Amino acid sequence: MEHMLLDCHSTGQRIIWNLAKRLCVKTREVWPDLNVGIILGCGLTEYMTSDRKPDKGKRRLFKILISESAYLIWKIRCEWRIEHNAHPDKKITDSVRLDHTDHEVRNRWIKMISDRIHMDILCSDGRRYKKKAIASSIVQKVWGKILRAEKVCGLSLEEISGVLVGIRDWWPP
Ligand SMILES: [Zn+2]
Repeated sequence: MEHMLLDCHSTGQRIIWNLAKRLCVKTREVWPDLNVGIILGCGLTEYMTSDRKPDKGKRRLFKILISESAYLIWKIRCEWRIEHNAHPDKKITDSVRLDHTDHEVRNRWIKMISDRIHMDILCSDGRRYKKKAIASSIVQKVWGKILRAEKVCGLSLEEISGVLVGIRDWWPP
């Protein structure tokens, strides 16, 4: 598990965590030093604001970024193992150089996170979901800075993925 999520060269994990980290930094949150405990417990961690109140926005951001990224790493690993019979030619190989597979992993991650953000926005519709709705203030807090939007409510999936695709500093220099 630890190898697959944090060390493996065939799961796209290096690229995926780099993308998650870069998105996180846009909210001015500090990306945690990942280990298996943080990844598996990402839904349980309590974050506090400076005045010692539970920081629900921060909790939601890390829960979504870490769990979705880990899930994509796991899916990529399964595709390679099962669909391609662990064929070495079909392996996703990490490299410093940007090659085709890096872009493919990046695009899949952006698509997945865009869908997830869109779902969050839809679920904050208080008129539709009443008490079950996620507080729109939290959704705004979590995604507003990333999407550079004063009001994320009402953004379409195309608008969200457009912003994410357009982020220029996805790759380290
Ligand atoms: Zn490996």
